[in-house]
Amino acid sequence: MTGPQHMTPDEFREAGRAAIDWLADFLADHRDGGHARPIVPDVAPGDVYGSLPPSPPTTGEPFDDLLADVDRLIAPATTQWQHPGFYGFFPADSSPPSILGELISAGLGVQGMMWSTSPACTELETLVLDWLVEACGLPDRFRSDGPGGGVIQDSASSASLCAVLAARDRSGGAAELPRLRVYTSAQAHSSIEKDILVAGFAREQLRVVPTDAGFAMDADALAAMVAADVAEGLVPCLIAATVGTTSSGAVDPVARVCDVAGPAGAWVHVDAAWAGSATVCPEYRHLLDGLDRVDSYCFNPHKWLLTNFDCSAFFVADSGPLLDSLSIVPEYLRNAASDAGEVIDYRDWQVPLGRRFRSLKLWFVLRSYGTDGLRAHIRAHVAATADLAERLAANPSLEMAAPLSLGLVCFRHVDGDEASERLLAAVNASGRAFLTHTRLDDRYALRVAVGGTWTTADHVTELADLLDALLLDEALDGP
Ligand SMILES: *Cc1c(COP(=O)(O)O)cnc(C)c1O
Repeated sequence: MTGPQHMTPDEFREAGRAAIDWLADFLADHRDGGHARPIVPDVAPGDVYGSLPPSPPTTGEPFDDLLADVDRLIAPATTQWQHPGFYGFFPADSSPPSILGELISAGLGVQGMMWSTSPACTELETLVLDWLVEACGLPDRFRSDGPGGGVIQDSASSASLCAVLAARDRSGGAAELPRLRVYTSAQAHSSIEKDILVAGFAREQLRVVPTDAGFAMDADALAAMVAADVAEGLVPCLIAATVGTTSSGAVDPVARVCDVAGPAGAWVHVDAAWAGSATVCPEYRHLLDGLDRVDSYCFNPHKWLLTNFDCSAFFVADSGPLLDSLSIVPEYLRNAASDAGEVIDYRDWQVPLGRRFRSLKLWFVLRSYGTDGLRAHIRAHVAATADLAERLAANPSLEMAAPLSLGLVCFRHVDGDEASERLLAAVNASGRAFLTHTRLDDRYALRVAVGGTWTTADHVTELADLLDALLLDEALDGP
């Protein structure tokens, strides 16, 4: 039997050049303002499926045909997350060096579950996360040269799941589970609730702490809830604080959370999935107040730091509890380096066994842009967002729905939810900008998250002009 027919090296070279050429054109369009495709495609459910053959081919097809179908059928039915007018959710930045790092990772094709299965995969990850500690001004306890360190997870949800598992087991694990309690604010990301359910807790074991007028966790309320639980013989196991909430960018008072957690023996996890990238700039290091006392921290370079999904940086002050929860070593994975305890095996720092070589793309990004380039990226967005917020505040039809936070502004129409919903629909129907919404104080709010790789101050000004124009048309048309 002969094996399959692979591309020859020369065919691969040619196909690879064609794929990069296609991507270069795609990115060039975003850079020019994204005129080639609407941000949200005009696609009905089933359209994409129906446009493709129902069965796979029996004989191989030429690469040109594949690329042509990407151009004709796939790209036009894709939401343009890299479009400069994409302000929905939080943008998920990609960048040329990141794309190339991802490509090389796929080419090396390693499975980095342990140091011994690919030493560079482990050690580059350790190095790049130490670089992030320095670049972002994180506490030294997250560096790899002490009991703690960092690891790249696929998502913030997985990072917080690891924190939940380590905290659960540090507080007694399965035997104590019914007595354990977890605390997070009413504005925390939904992944915290999902994580505690996955970790075997009942929903009632999650205490939802109220927030203050600015949507940050009310530390006094937290203290009272913890004290009441302790008085009842329950065990506070984990407090999950958020730095930069998803709805409005609110920042929980981490130092005060630590004051409460310390005496109660609770693990503190800080979720800074979006806002964490901003701390590459020294002027935003106040976001890290209290972080030198927490057990774990996570932020997503795949949101605002030019590194394409997936890349979530997770740091622990002490990897011991994580390993106690997650290290299981069957005979077939035993090896001399691991047995000697000389190396990090990142399989023990995450739920799955297998892992991708994700540090390559982050390394490429850090080296290509330098910390100066990353700071310029964040600063340009924060400045543009401040200008946008000023324009919105000056419009009598609009009001702020939350305090401005870095690159996120939340606002609503003064006429109420229906008017706000209509405005959002009109912006999105324009094809030039894409916004999503949330609810704050039980009212509909539009969110503008400025953070896309190709989004410049000019694009944000265009959005402000668009909003003014839509509101003016509406005023002229009458209600
Ligand atoms: C985006 C976000 C998450 C979820 O991130 P994933 O990496 O997609 O799991 C969690 N927390 C906050 C505050 C976020 O903004």
